[in-house]
Amino acid sequence: MAEPHLTSNPWALAAKNLCFPIFCLNCRERLLTEENGYFCPTCWELASRIEPPLCPSCGRPHTTMVGLGSRRNFPCAECREHPLEAVGRIYGAAMYEGVIAEAIQALKFHDKHRLAIPLGELLREFAAEHMAVEAYDFIIPVPLHRVRFRERGYNQSALLAEECAAAFPKARVCHDLKRIRPTRTQSKVVGDKRADNVRGAFAVTGDQLAGTRILLVDDVVTSGGTVIECARALRRAKAAHVDVLAVALVEHRAART
Ligand SMILES: [Zn+2]
Ligand SMILES: [Zn+2]
Repeated sequence: MAEPHLTSNPWALAAKNLCFPIFCLNCRERLLTEENGYFCPTCWELASRIEPPLCPSCGRPHTTMVGLGSRRNFPCAECREHPLEAVGRIYGAAMYEGVIAEAIQALKFHDKHRLAIPLGELLREFAAEHMAVEAYDFIIPVPLHRVRFRERGYNQSALLAEECAAAFPKARVCHDLKRIRPTRTQSKVVGDKRADNVRGAFAVTGDQLAGTRILLVDDVVTSGGTVIECARALRRAKAAHVDVLAVALVEHRAART
């Protein structure tokens, strides 16, 4: 399936901006430069990024350091109670809130596919700072079902995978993971029904993933149900290891509801 190519011709954009002024989606300030196209530099820079200390399992930042002391890499309470299955660890560049949440909504539901460029940059910055970037053979986007793909015209996770690939010198983007049955958007499904919603929804084509190390890319991780189900399919195809990189993570408490 062909993905739209994300080009940004600065002259064409500047001319367009003169005729059709554009405004920051967050503060409504007029945008004069085309760095991002949707958010002003102030709003974008102020968006909070995830920084250590964080949970080495689900990637959420530890909200309090009290009592952690030298155990900064200790899993959070949620992960001690429900350890991740099939996935090595989840990385997220930001929490799902404020400007980042607005950007993801716009990318996903309002046809703003050029937002994959700044969001991909966010992923590259996070990877360079906090990940073992040489550890992966393949970067695999969480796939859309073909019906949803036709409606939307693009898969936002595939755009993000392409945009962040430059940060991983030994990995290449691969589309061998498919969504074989339609599912509802996880954020619209009640907490404990999310695992059922995606169960058996994914399958791998071909056999090139056997023995490889995979980085699965998604826009948002809510409860983790989708990426865990994807990882199960990848492990059934004999992948040696699966980690996850998402633009944003939903706070555990919000993910349960
Ligand atoms: Zn702004
Ligand atoms: Zn955790």
